[in-house]
Amino acid sequence: MKKSARTSLAAPCPCGNAAAYEACCGRWHHGERYLQAPDAEALMRSRYSAFVLDKLDYLLKTWHASTRPESLEGNTPDTKWLGLQIRGHRLQDATHATVEFVARSRHRGQATRMHEISRFVHEGGRWFYLDGEFVQK
Ligand SMILES: [Zn+2]
Repeated sequence: MKKSARTSLAAPCPCGNAAAYEACCGRWHHGERYLQAPDAEALMRSRYSAFVLDKLDYLLKTWHASTRPESLEGNTPDTKWLGLQIRGHRLQDATHATVEFVARSRHRGQATRMHEISRFVHEGGRWFYLDGEFVQK
């Protein structure tokens, strides 16, 4: 049987932390602390994990209403997420933060490297993804 991150809550978190999924991004994906990622980096990690695990509802709920798309497409079977690397987390003021990251994936054998600086805003007690800028290097 194909091993999948879905099969075990004790498996390492898809975001790359050594912690188990349930002790890392899983906390924000469901349960008592649903949507309560405490800072922009935790939210960024949980959104990457949500992309990997096809949790589209979570992605939409953590997307700021002003920039949120109407809907999202799930992963196709030939998309493989390879990893997340957080390059920086900067708090600009109490309610604004940026997270620089590199996310790697492979789609139909084609490797993709996405280097972005995402902006996050804190509103109503929660962090939301606002938008992002690609970093060209
Ligand atoms: Zn995680």
